[in-house]
Amino acid sequence: MIDPLHPRTRLVGLGRPHRPGDPLNHPVTPASNFLPGGEHWYSRLDGTNTIDALEEVIGALEGGTALVFGSGMAAVAAVLSLVPAGGKIAAPTDCYHGVAGLLTEGAAAGRWDLHRIEPTDTAGWAAACDGADLVWLESPSNPLLEISDLPAICRSGGRTAIVGVDSTFATPLGQRPLELGADLAMHSVTKFMGGHSDLLAGAVVTRREDLATRLQGHRQLAGAVPGALEAFLALRGLRTLSVRLDRQQSNAGELARRLEAHPAVRRVRYPGLVTDPGHTLAASFMDGYGAVISFEVADDDTAAAVVEGMQIVTHATSLGGVESTAERRSGYPGSTHLPPGLIRMSVGIEHVDDLWDDLARALAVASA
Ligand SMILES: *Cc1c(COP(=O)(O)O)cnc(C)c1O
Repeated sequence: MIDPLHPRTRLVGLGRPHRPGDPLNHPVTPASNFLPGGEHWYSRLDGTNTIDALEEVIGALEGGTALVFGSGMAAVAAVLSLVPAGGKIAAPTDCYHGVAGLLTEGAAAGRWDLHRIEPTDTAGWAAACDGADLVWLESPSNPLLEISDLPAICRSGGRTAIVGVDSTFATPLGQRPLELGADLAMHSVTKFMGGHSDLLAGAVVTRREDLATRLQGHRQLAGAVPGALEAFLALRGLRTLSVRLDRQQSNAGELARRLEAHPAVRRVRYPGLVTDPGHTLAASFMDGYGAVISFEVADDDTAAAVVEGMQIVTHATSLGGVESTAERRSGYPGSTHLPPGLIRMSVGIEHVDDLWDDLARALAVASA
């Protein structure tokens, strides 16, 4: 059945109790086990009320069955459990460093063959869809903000692979991989969906019943469920995603334009910039461009001085919170492909002029 309501309405209204006298929000239920005869039995196996509610909302947003996990990485690990021993995985050259680490660790241990493909090599991805067991995409990518042609890749003919998309940077409001033809959409709920830097959670959504069953079976055995409080906080955060994201995206677009014109900045990557190589493609299938930007300054020392010199923008890892954060990305393990002086910034909901003043001041001091 096609739900006529817009996702922005559904994420507010779904996942709520509905019996007379119930509270408007599911209370946190810290429970491992339940008395027999009800909906739940043991929360590693069949969840809790807050886990169920979170899955209802995320599933409705992406248009599939959602399974939530204790972190984004736990969700990715569950997806990798779908790959048979000795199977073949295609993954992007630029992707979240934890995912790259898990993939290379498994390849080194002989669990699978790993093929890395440039995010923009659409023909390479299409070829991988026929022959690989898992095609793992991440778009926009972390931290280079590369855009992969998801519609073309997900619909490529002769496909044998399970195609999964890490859609963390886009959120379900920015793109819906299942509608584009992917088998799996994955999110680090820790980031924009949670939105307040106060929880770890992950999600995988699919329309394929066989995959949902296998992922759920893996989660039950591997035990990668979120806690009841984390599920509650994620759902509470998700309720305001649409307004947070609107502000964060408009701030990001404005900062990207101002950074692009700044003499101390060599290059800005943000798919919302008309000059960005991913812009036309992103505009063709995304709704908005997210709120992460990356930009290059002269070198790593300058980048360190910029992120440490800001007072409103917090020097911290991770992204997607209401508060702006920035971090130097090059020079870390698994980041040899990154240009020197790269800064990744997650843009929050503060007033854009305050953010710009902070950035411009730190850039001026660091580049002096
Ligand atoms: C943070 C992140 C992850 C990992 O999620 P955790 O919740 O930290 O485990 C995966 N993919 C992307 C794109 C991320 O930004």
